[in-house]
Amino acid sequence: MTIQEMQERIAQLKKEKNAVILAHYYTRPEVQDVADYLGDSLGLSQEAGKTDADIILFCGVHFMAETAAIISPDKRVLTPVLGAGCSLAEAITGYELKRWKEEHPDGLVVSYVNTTADTKAYTDVCCTSANALEVVKALPEDKEILFVPDSHLGAWIQKVTGREMTLWDGHCCVHHIVDGEMVIEAANKYPEADILIHPESICSSDERVLNMPNAYFYSTAGMVKHAKESPKRQFVIATELGTIHKLQQDSPDKEFIPISERLICAQMKKVTLEGVLEALEKEQYVVKIDEPMRSDAVKSIDAMLKL
Ligand code: SF4
Repeated sequence: MTIQEMQERIAQLKKEKNAVILAHYYTRPEVQDVADYLGDSLGLSQEAGKTDADIILFCGVHFMAETAAIISPDKRVLTPVLGAGCSLAEAITGYELKRWKEEHPDGLVVSYVNTTADTKAYTDVCCTSANALEVVKALPEDKEILFVPDSHLGAWIQKVTGREMTLWDGHCCVHHIVDGEMVIEAANKYPEADILIHPESICSSDERVLNMPNAYFYSTAGMVKHAKESPKRQFVIATELGTIHKLQQDSPDKEFIPISERLICAQMKKVTLEGVLEALEKEQYVVKIDEPMRSDAVKSIDAMLKL
């Protein structure tokens, strides 16, 4: 089957089965092109909550499909691939978080949405890179904040809000390579460009980068919005390379330069067009979160959406 034939068959199956395809910006371009909604973690969670489709086919890593299953227990949530992990989600288990909370009985747990359902079940409030600053600012000043699992995102929140937090030592294996030297080198090479950086990057608490007038920290959706609205013509992109497909589609007359060709999430790339087609045909692989874990986990997502 050609790519076009597969895309046509997928469109037909979506209609027949009242299915919706949600895809993350880091998936392959041909997968992004069959999505009804393309977004980052926050946008995808919101979309999963409001769709009236019977089937949600989630193109992303496993914790994302789990999040959709937590939010929409009455829908059939499918993932086209089993075993697409995430180094952040795997940095902490629910059991480890439970033990950590016991050591800090008065602490409030803020979990980045890149966590398993098990970890979310022990979380007070979730956040994404798009709303992390607002979530942390809204929490009572006299409470200790236990932030999991991304230490770089946590360090960035501390720098920007001035709020001290206790950080879990996890990181994203993709963004972990974006350090201050890499950004300084890019700034020198492309002085006219805006540099758009994901706060999961190791440079997110580096004063040299934070003080650069043309460096901006954004969630992936924030980068897409900035590039679309900015009068600038050139952008250096410091996040997963899949994002450039959307950036280029939205602004075909602008130039997007990856800060490094190594920023590829191998787990996201496990989602293929063949896998998407097979998932719709066979209605596989079902992602379901058992009770009471689901009810415990949904409270942390509801708390985030409320804030
Ligand atoms: S890019 Fe990083 S945070 Fe995103 S899914 Fe891949 S490993 Fe996880």
